[in-house]
Amino acid sequence: MKRLELPANRIEVIQGLAADVLGTRNCGIPVNPKRIGEDEEDLRLHFEFLSDDLDGCIEYDRDTGKFHVVINSAATKSVTRERFTIAHELGHYFIPEHRRDLVVGKLPHFRLIPGLKPDHAEALADREADCFASHLLVPESELKLKLNEFTTAGRTASYGLVADLADYFQVSFICAAGRFLSATDEACAIAVYPNGKGRVPYVEVSVAFKTRFNVSRNSQLKPFPGDCGGSLERWFKDVPNPRDSEIWATANHGRFGTIVFLKPY
Ligand SMILES: [Zn+2]
Repeated sequence: MKRLELPANRIEVIQGLAADVLGTRNCGIPVNPKRIGEDEEDLRLHFEFLSDDLDGCIEYDRDTGKFHVVINSAATKSVTRERFTIAHELGHYFIPEHRRDLVVGKLPHFRLIPGLKPDHAEALADREADCFASHLLVPESELKLKLNEFTTAGRTASYGLVADLADYFQVSFICAAGRFLSATDEACAIAVYPNGKGRVPYVEVSVAFKTRFNVSRNSQLKPFPGDCGGSLERWFKDVPNPRDSEIWATANHGRFGTIVFLKPY
């Protein structure tokens, strides 16, 4: 199955929504999603110990007319993950279509693609909430300022640069990488080899990487090459344009798996 992709115009709408939410509040960096939630009259945040497979959820109480966001405060959760989870649930709260679904007692679902299966519609709604969260925590305007600052300092795309962005915005490396790849002019990509049975490696690419190598986020990765070097064919299953494809990579083995930063020589 191809990875579910949000239409570009939908990403734009959600980015605008996140910017509006930030624009009407006095948010510095790092953005504090908990505070944004607490400031909403009809929303209550709860921190409880939930089962391991659930980061958080949102429900609407018809009797009181209030939304309840429950965040899993299990000790194993990291601060960045908790921040992202709150921002994700806020996405369901602020995206009008999701809010409407919640009010009538349904799970938020995606409606722009006719004939979408229910589980796909819900998965896409969750992608919308993730999209909202990443734009709320890494606002477009602040991201551009930070990238300009790096460019002025002579820094180019690297694992370390994304790690610094993650640190600055207080988000996970994956979240920072996604936002960085959407904004950079450089050709680069992130390959993720998650831990755990049945979890498939995946790639996120910048526009320039996609254009230059014809490798997209739907391209399949080969098993981790180990020495972190070589040509594009050593990383990807089908490389339509293997010429000019020597790449270097830096990898980090975190508790969620191996994350590799790919960049052409
Ligand atoms: Zn969700």
